[in-house]
Amino acid sequence: MKKLAIIAMAGVLSLVAGCQSVSTTSGGAVGVGREQSMFMLLSTRQVDQMSSQAYKEQLAEAEQKRTLNRDAATVARLNKIADRLVAQVGTFRRDAKQWKWEVNLLQKDELNAYCMPGGKIMFYSGIIKKLNLSDAEIAAIMGHEMAHALREHGRESMSRAYAVNFGLMAVGAAAGLEQDHMNLARQVADVAITLPNSRTAEAEADLIGLELMARAGYDPEAAVSLWQKMSKGGGQRPPEFLSTHPSTSTRIEGLKHNIPKVLPLYKSSANRT
Ligand SMILES: [Zn+2]
Repeated sequence: MKKLAIIAMAGVLSLVAGCQSVSTTSGGAVGVGREQSMFMLLSTRQVDQMSSQAYKEQLAEAEQKRTLNRDAATVARLNKIADRLVAQVGTFRRDAKQWKWEVNLLQKDELNAYCMPGGKIMFYSGIIKKLNLSDAEIAAIMGHEMAHALREHGRESMSRAYAVNFGLMAVGAAAGLEQDHMNLARQVADVAITLPNSRTAEAEADLIGLELMARAGYDPEAAVSLWQKMSKGGGQRPPEFLSTHPSTSTRIEGLKHNIPKVLPLYKSSANRT
C-alpha cells in the first residue's frame, strides 16, 4: 500500500515537472493576462491535429446525412463574418493569422456553435434562425468561440483531464494493471473536446470575443442583445453549450462593464457596420 502511494506520488511529481506556465495570447485592450498551466506532453500541434481530425469526421458525417452547408446564403454570410474576425486575431496572437480557419454550417435545430482548437468553426442553423441573429450577434458568438481557440482553452482542459488520468494510470501500473498509454491519451482528448469550459475560460472568451468583434467593426452592444435573446430563446432548457456557462446576468454585467474599453476600437474601425 505504501509502495503504491509512493509510485502514485512519483507519477504526480513527474507530472508537475511536465507542466509549464504559458501565455497563449497578448492582453489586448480588455487585458486578459492569466498565465495558463499546460502539460507539455500535449503540444499545441498534437491538440490541433486531433481536433482537425475530429472536425473532418463531423463534416463527413454531416455530408452523409445531407445536413452540411445546405443554405448557401447563410454559409456566405458566416464566411464574411469569419473573415472580418480572423483579420483581427493578430492582436491576441500573431501565429493565429496563419491558422487554417474554417467555418461550416450544420442544418440542425439546436442552439449551438463552437470553434475547435486550431480554428475549426461550426454553426448550427438553429441558433441563427430561432434567435433571428443579426450579423453583429453572429460575430459576438463567433468571436467568443474563436477566443476559446486562441487561448487554447481546449488544451488547458485536456491537460487537466490528462493529469487526472495520468495519476490514475500511475496507480494502475503500481497495481499491476496494463494500460495502453495512447488509448488513454485518445480517451482524454475525446473527453476534453466535449468538456465544458471553466468559468474563468468563459469570462476570458467573453472579453476577447468582445474586442475581436469591435475591432472587426461590429457594434459590441450586440453581445449584450445576443445574450438577452439567448436567455429568452432557450425555452425551458438552456442551449446545450450554455448550460455550463455562468448565468446570463453575470455575463451581461461583465460585457457591459467592458464595452467602454472596446467602443473606441469599434468607432475607429475601417469596416464599421
Ligand atoms: Zn464559451
